Amino acid sequence: MISQADRARLRKHILAEQEKVRADIVYLGAQSGPVAPDNAIGRLSRMEAISSRGINEAKLGDAKSRLVLLDYALTRIDHPDFGLCTSCGDPISLARLQFMPESRFCVDCAG
Ligand SMILES: [Zn+2]
Repeated sequence: MISQADRARLRKHILAEQEKVRADIVYLGAQSGPVAPDNAIGRLSRMEAISSRGINEAKLGDAKSRLVLLDYALTRIDHPDFGLCTSCGDPISLARLQFMPESRFCVDCAG
């Protein structure tokens, strides 16, 4: 069972992480528009632009799904089950929750 003090700390941590992830989403969203045609920037740099756009889009997808999980963690944080593994029901270590407050699985089940 996670103490009230730890829950309060985790809540602050989640709110801070949400701010960071939202800023990432704005930044990555701005980077992932359409790439200009060949004649505008040259063939090689266009390929580089397409490749880095693909990486940005992947990061954008990751950031969006992390935000959903953080939102969900925040709705659950005062629930008695918060911090218990969804799969086996064992407590998730506090260190893991501090590192990844959106964790829903213990280390064993996440692996
Ligand atoms: Zn587990």
